[in-house]
Amino acid sequence: MADIIQLLPDHVANQIAAGEVVQRPASVVKELLENAIDAKATSITLIIKDAGKTLVQVTDNGMGMSVTDARLSFERHATSKIKSAEDLFNLHTKGFRGEALASIAAIAHVELKTKTEDSEIGTHLTIEGSKVISQDPAVVSKGTTISVKNLFYNIPARRNFLKSNPVETRHIIDEFHRVALAHPNVAFQMLHNGGDVFNLPASNSRQRIVNIFGSKTNEKLVPVHEETEILKVEGFVLKPEFGKKSRGEQFFFVNDRFIKSPYLHHAVASAFEGLVKNDIHPGYFLFLEVDTHSIDINIHPTKTEIKFDDEHSIYAMLRATVKHSLGQFNIAPVLDFERDKGFDMPYDYSKKQPTAPSIDVDRDFNPFKERAKQGNINFPFKRDPSSGSGLTQSWESLYVGLKDDFDSAQPPRGRSSSGAEMEMEFESEEVTGSLFENNEAETGQITFQLQNKYIVSPLKSGMMIIHQNLAHQRILYEELLKNITVKEAVSQQLLFPLQLHFSKPDVEIIEKIREQLEHTGFVFSALKDETIEISGIPVMILESHVVNLLSQLVHDIKEEVPDSGFSQNDKLAKSMAASMAIKTGVSLNREEREHLINQLFACKEPSVSPTNKLVFTTIDASDLDKKFM
Ligand code: ADP
Ligand code: MG
Repeated sequence: MADIIQLLPDHVANQIAAGEVVQRPASVVKELLENAIDAKATSITLIIKDAGKTLVQVTDNGMGMSVTDARLSFERHATSKIKSAEDLFNLHTKGFRGEALASIAAIAHVELKTKTEDSEIGTHLTIEGSKVISQDPAVVSKGTTISVKNLFYNIPARRNFLKSNPVETRHIIDEFHRVALAHPNVAFQMLHNGGDVFNLPASNSRQRIVNIFGSKTNEKLVPVHEETEILKVEGFVLKPEFGKKSRGEQFFFVNDRFIKSPYLHHAVASAFEGLVKNDIHPGYFLFLEVDTHSIDINIHPTKTEIKFDDEHSIYAMLRATVKHSLGQFNIAPVLDFERDKGFDMPYDYSKKQPTAPSIDVDRDFNPFKERAKQGNINFPFKRDPSSGSGLTQSWESLYVGLKDDFDSAQPPRGRSSSGAEMEMEFESEEVTGSLFENNEAETGQITFQLQNKYIVSPLKSGMMIIHQNLAHQRILYEELLKNITVKEAVSQQLLFPLQLHFSKPDVEIIEKIREQLEHTGFVFSALKDETIEISGIPVMILESHVVNLLSQLVHDIKEEVPDSGFSQNDKLAKSMAASMAIKTGVSLNREEREHLINQLFACKEPSVSPTNKLVFTTIDASDLDKKFM
């Protein structure tokens, strides 16, 4: 038999290779924009016609190419960016495969105009289906313009495969966003069929996001910042309330390169847990910087996937960082995590085999379901201690040896059927409890109240003294903040609407915070002139308490002019918590005391009150010992 194996001609090989790199006009856009960035351009213009099907043109003011380089740039595996395979592990450029221009030239009509800084005259090169048609000197300014016309002109099957113009344009805009977001210091312009689509001046990250996604975006951004030895994270997350039903703005950049990572997405999404409903996707723009040696971006031809050496640690840090940012901006209560010291000691950390990045999410998690189940309205934060956060667990270790005390603690029973009534009893001045409960001896529980103000509880190492009012403020604050943010509070309908009278300006103030109040469970049926009509109130308050609560709120708001939406939510939650919490002077029975303690330590930040006061203190037995020496 005659020899039948033959080498494919270059243009055929290029056409085949092109299939990997160029799937649609947007792929061309990505490659050309990235080349312009690699050429250190400070201003880049993208022009497309017919969704890129007729023309994709990118002009940059970067370093340009010499006459020879211009010609070489269209050869396969022609790149100025790596010289050896090792360079792959120290990449600071977008490109490195030397495939893009060769691939594009194999399946389109390409025109290149380029000039370097130091040459007098530039080059004009035309290529069609890998064949050089012409190369002439040309008068052009420094930089490069590449025009790609009639994409897939020689592969009709591919051309027919392209989607409608709106769909292809959407893809192009996505690529444009990704590159523009990663490089806010570069000016970008995009025109479609002659019309301006984007005009983005060189700026900073926040400004770039706002310029792309609209001025309203500004107030939605929560800055994120963390720097450790193995990872630097900068950027923004969108406040939980701006999460979308569809996957909206979700951007990860690693070393200025847009990447897709379901794993890292999960880290961010889990930081939002409890703040957004299950079907809402949080938005984020996160810029990660890692040592180029610790990643491998070579695993995907279009380079949107990436492999980290230490994925687990990155996950844990990212999650913690986002949580922390949400906390700092009072979107979520802080201190749900302890910043692992291992973050600063990468090797130590990686040896530790991270426990934090567990990927199980309770998809059915619904903060209100739990409450309903327990019929425990006044203390909705009760959690199963075994499923609690690391913090809860670490608190529990304080109680080793006293396990029964807390495991057997139940919501108050038998005193009243609804939380509201219970609240009334809390608020009453009636002194019902005695200093020591009789049945304590039975279970060995020894919590007691001091001056109807403090709850004292023994610890293995000594004792803990809790300020009842501040503790309850913390519990209510976290609950309220969550309700306001997640917007899903439960309200109790009033049999007869409540008519309240305020001054006109006060009614206007209430009108301003109406939305947030409604998130806590208030239902306003009318709000006008000097009258407020309320037909529903939060389950955790008493009807008779509403006037005081609203007056206090109005007072607090007048005292301090609320600024941005979030700090306003925070102030509202603080103010409501302060006026709703059990007061000093109220006697609590054993169950109430224990329940308060349990609720407190199920909080994200039990140690300080919403107004930053100490909630409890501990006295060590060894300190006592000293007194008796
Ligand atoms: P890669 O980017 O992977 O190196 P490309 O095929 O995209 O491969 O480009 C090949 C080479 O052409 C690049 O390495 C670079 O030297 C040169 N080049 C491409 N586009 C530009 C540009 N806009 N300005 C300057 N040089 C460019
Ligand atoms: Mg390239």
